[in-house]
Formats: sequence, C-alpha cells, structure tokens
Amino acid sequence: WAGMVALAFWLAIFFAVLSYRQKQNSLLNRLQNALQSGELISFYQPIINVDSGEMYGAEALIRWVKKDGSIISPGYFIDELESSSLITPVTLCLIRQVLDNLSGILNQDPELKISVNIVPEHLEHPHLLDALESMAAQGEQVQSLSLEITERQPIYDIASAKIQIARIKALGLTLKLDDAGTGYGGISYLQEFDFDYIKIDKMFVDTLHFDKASSALDAQILMAGHLNLPLIAEGVETKKQALELLQRGVHLQQGYLFAKPMPLDDFICFYQEATKPDNIVRKLRR
Ligand code: C2E
Ligand code: MG
Ligand code: MG
Ligand code: MG
Repeated sequence: WAGMVALAFWLAIFFAVLSYRQKQNSLLNRLQNALQSGELISFYQPIINVDSGEMYGAEALIRWVKKDGSIISPGYFIDELESSSLITPVTLCLIRQVLDNLSGILNQDPELKISVNIVPEHLEHPHLLDALESMAAQGEQVQSLSLEITERQPIYDIASAKIQIARIKALGLTLKLDDAGTGYGGISYLQEFDFDYIKIDKMFVDTLHFDKASSALDAQILMAGHLNLPLIAEGVETKKQALELLQRGVHLQQGYLFAKPMPLDDFICFYQEATKPDNIVRKLRR
C-alpha cells in the first residue's frame, strides 16, 4: 500500500509539472505568433513636467491587442517574455513602432523623450546596441529614445554592462533606473552604471502620507540630489500627490492623474492638447 501511495504521489507531481511546462510553452508559442502577426503593440503614457506644464515625453508600454480587439496587459505575459530569448525581437519591434509612429512629433519636437523598457540581458549582450547603432547609421532619431531598466533584476555582468551603457551614451540616448527603491539599487549602483534619471516607484507615491514611507521617499530625493540626478515619479493618481511631489522638487510625473497608457491615436491627440498654452497641467496648478 505504502508503495502504491508513494507512486501515485510522484505520478501526480510529474503530471502537474508536465502540464505547467506545456502551459508555459504554449504561452510562449502564442507570444511568438502574436509578435509575427503584429499583435504586440506599443501604448504610450505621457510624462509631464508639472512645474512648467509641458510634456517631457512618454513611456512606451507593451500591450497584446488580439484580433477580436481585446487588450492584454503585460502583467499576464511579461515574465514569460523576459525569461525567454523572445524579449530581444519584441523590444526591437517596440522600438521600431515608436520611431515609426512618432517620427512626425519627434521631428517637430526633438526634446521629447520616449522611454522603452529593457532588461539586464540587453546590457549583458551587444545585440540591442548593435541594432540601435545601425538604426542611427540610417538616420533614425534614436536619440529621442530613453532606456528604462528595472532595479528589481540584478545586472550580473558589470563589465559588459558598462560597455553597452557607453554605447548608449555615445548614441545620445539616456538611461533611467526604473522602480527605484524596490531592488538592487543604491548609490554605488547608480554611480557604477551612469544613470541619467531615477524613477520613483508607485509604492512610494501611494504611501506619501505615511511618515515612515515618506521618509524613505525623502531619502531617495536626498540621494538623487547628491548625485545630481533628476527624479520621475510614477503612479501619480491624485492632485494631492502631484502637488506634494512638486513641493519636494519632483517635477517630472507620470500617472493616471494625467493620462493612462493610450493607443497611438489617443496619444497624438493628448500631445496636441498638451502643447496648447492653457493645458490641463497649468489648470491643475491653479
Ligand atoms: P513599469 O515600467 O514600471 O511601468 C509603469 C506601470 O505602471 C505601467 O503598467 C503603467 O500602466 C502603470 N501605471 C502608470 N501610472 C499609474 C497609475 O497612476 N496608477 C496605476 N495603478 N498604475 C499606473 P503596465 O503597462 O501594466 O506595465 C507593467 C510593467 O510591465 C512595466 O512596469 C514594465 O516593467 C513591464 N513592461 C511594460 N512594457 C514593457 C516592454 O515593452 N518591455 C519590457 N521588458 N517590460 C515592459
Ligand atoms: Mg518602465
Ligand atoms: Mg516603473
Ligand atoms: Mg513600477
């Protein structure tokens, strides 16, 4: 009996693992097909300079837009994508979309910066920078791009990362530390990798009104000040948060208060509104 029970137990585990792996595999296959059929689309969320009332730029955020029109958020698939080699063609596809979609706006407004999220692998291997360099050689406006890398995932190959970062800078791109305060960051990390901006995670914005959390935010602000790095707050949802951040000198802000991530057409309308002299941000400050 004991033998039978043990056998059944191991069989159950075996099939559970098997079906889990098949499910993962099929999600990756479906993502591969989605990439091929143009269903992986960039949405855009504005980043606002709340001090001047002008638009600083936007973040490109991936969405899986299915044939039936349903939209799937990255929360559902980004882990699978990032842990497979598919992340590089997908990232390049997004960059391609940004440059094609926004070439008009970027020509007209060369100061505007569009952020694209990358992963540590892109700093550990030369492929992404090879592609960016050849786009630059063809006269594409790659210098309007900014690359965001989350501090949640460690960068193992420091020597190689420094080489890729030097190439990023040589092309005129900027580098942002994403989700600051949630992972492996810290002063030495920031200096080592020569970041240009720090993005304060939504977590700190959410808890702005709690003493402990707001002192963690103040510590980040102090550190950024010492390093002479501008901050961008993400996840700003209320006017109160926006004004409190502004009081602390955090001028660049992104969040639902201003706009959710939007498809291209809506984003272009938003941009046109934002460049009018009496736009929503200037009204907000009154
Ligand atoms: P992230 O890079 O930190 O992007 C910010 C996330 O916060 C976005 O979620 C955005 O929609 C959300 N957000 C912005 N403002 C607010 C707000 O006021 N309230 C709330 N509740 N949420 C807000 P999203 O688009 O679902 O993306 C989630 C994460 O997926 C991103 O976090 C990023 O890590 C990853 N991701 C998205 N697109 C890409 C991509 O093209 N490549 C890679 N490697 N990762 C991506
Ligand atoms: Mg980001
Ligand atoms: Mg972030
Ligand atoms: Mg975040």
